[in-house]
Amino acid sequence: MATLDLTTRQRIMQLIAGTLRTSRQLAELVGVPERQIEDHLAHIVRSVARDRARRFVLDPSACQDCDFVFRGRTRLTRPSRCPRCRSEAISAPRYGIELRSTTGK
Ligand SMILES: [Zn+2]
Repeated sequence: MATLDLTTRQRIMQLIAGTLRTSRQLAELVGVPERQIEDHLAHIVRSVARDRARRFVLDPSACQDCDFVFRGRTRLTRPSRCPRCRSEAISAPRYGIELRSTTGK
């Protein structure tokens, strides 16, 4: 079981390296439910935070009706409703891992 988990997590990390994907895209690519993807992502956030060479990127959800952006949101799941216009047309957040510059930026 643990080995399978690790493999799934490593696959997710490979799939978001250098790009951005939604949890739904990842669920389709990896073949596990979206909820499991979100669980894995929570662990990936923590492990990447300890890694000096990499950085976890969260492209936040946005309202598709008024362009409100859910910045500063730390939860990984999609918000259900826009606080500004009450629309439920919220784009899914996207996740990525980018390599941190080693030149001191
Ligand atoms: Zn809105």
